[in-house]
Amino acid sequence: MPSGLTVAAYIVASICFILSLGGLSNQEKAQRGNVYGIAGMGIAIAATLWSDSVTGYGTIAVAMGMGAVIGAVLAMRVEMTSMPELVAILHSFVGLAAVLVGFSSYLDLHIVLEGAAKTIRDIEVFLGVFIGAVTFTGSVIAFGKLKGILNSKPLTLPARHWLNLVLFIVCIYLGKAFVEAGSIDAGIIPLLVMTILAFLFGIHMVMAIGGADMPVVISILNSYSGWAAAATGFMLSNDLLIITGALVGSSGAILSYIMCRAMNRSFLSVVMGGFGSTGSFASDVEGEAVAISSSETANQLGMISSLVIVPGYGMAVAHAQHLVSELTKKLQDRNVQVHFAIHPVAGRMPGHMNVLLAEAKVPYDIVFEMDEINPDLPDTDMVMVIGANDIVNPSAIESPDSPIAGMPVIEVWKAKQVIVLKRSMASGYAGVENPLFYRENTKMLFGDAKESMDQVVSGL
Ligand code: NDP
Repeated sequence: MPSGLTVAAYIVASICFILSLGGLSNQEKAQRGNVYGIAGMGIAIAATLWSDSVTGYGTIAVAMGMGAVIGAVLAMRVEMTSMPELVAILHSFVGLAAVLVGFSSYLDLHIVLEGAAKTIRDIEVFLGVFIGAVTFTGSVIAFGKLKGILNSKPLTLPARHWLNLVLFIVCIYLGKAFVEAGSIDAGIIPLLVMTILAFLFGIHMVMAIGGADMPVVISILNSYSGWAAAATGFMLSNDLLIITGALVGSSGAILSYIMCRAMNRSFLSVVMGGFGSTGSFASDVEGEAVAISSSETANQLGMISSLVIVPGYGMAVAHAQHLVSELTKKLQDRNVQVHFAIHPVAGRMPGHMNVLLAEAKVPYDIVFEMDEINPDLPDTDMVMVIGANDIVNPSAIESPDSPIAGMPVIEVWKAKQVIVLKRSMASGYAGVENPLFYRENTKMLFGDAKESMDQVVSGL
């Protein structure tokens, strides 16, 4: 294909990606956004395959075939609750790809560069490998933490910030040695040592982050994976990869900023890890938890005129969203006002609850963000907390020593009565005890959220 046509196709693909991001920012247009994304990716792959830089199709066909089969099987099998782990491991692949492309382009004997062009290429390779290596191990650790293989508590090594600083300074020194190296043999040593240090840096960065800060880490790694892809684009002189990487990198950075603001965390403190997570919080919980049965819950629902439902990770685990939607319809038929309250970090990925509610066909106009609904809660007859815990924990507001102190939460305890659906008194992802369960106006409906919801809906 003539190179002009390839460039034109890349521009169309880039526009599709921008439209896709625009669509994904709104639930009603999200499906269209996905279609744009698929179209953009299709055009990008087709244009790349037809471009002059591809000389043989054998290896590409094998790689694409294997990738397509693994991707399709994974995507079909993955549970909604495991999506964050899948996303984390996919980020790690982008990071690893950047490392491999960096090494292969440095070792490629066909590329002979001199002077400024060589310096620029070397900086691209060094930065690309550094970002890729941090993204790779950081994402693997994030995967382990989200899957529960690794403890979600922060690993707080003594002098950890100094350790990070020393690692960073050594990497800058290695970068200088790499760029000044006169031959591939001389340059490969600093590149290899830096790669190992960057791997360690990625592990340490994410291990040092406590459970409550994980959402921000996920979006930061998302951003890093974009920058790693952009760096790969520079190394391969592929404009589309640069644009796409920059789009992912900058949108991930914006998302990280939004998440930090939503959780009242400073971006720097999360990246540096461990700040604000003391890990040794003893909550002074008072009172006794009172259980309620599903038939009593149904009776109570028959007597209210307003209900706010707060969904959390447990609703996703239990797959209770369709029954929640059914309950909503039944109550609306009885003229009960039903609203949903969504916390920005509910569940295990940004927008997790919105996706589940959309899947269960809950109308968008009754779904509200935390800041919109909090002022209405004192006038609400009942709040049903379905498998949520950290996002409704009053200790975030009332206990300055709490690991989640300062994080805005949905202030459900201000409603006239609260019913919490969960299986036990266990804590949530951040591992913090929840005084809400012991409040006078709170009742616990113990059991799997789907089973409890089923009984409540039948009871109604
Ligand atoms: P939490 O993890 O705080 O609490 C979920 C609760 O659901 C648990 O306490 C559990 O209690 C209950 N549960 C689990 N399974 C079931 C079931 N089958 N039926 C009923 N209940 C169940 O979730 P939240 O949504 O409240 O908060 C999200 C947390 O995840 C925050 O700490 C956030 O920082 C973190 N996080 C969020 C990410 C994001 O991007 N949104 C990413 C990574 C982390 P029990 O075992 O007793 O049933």
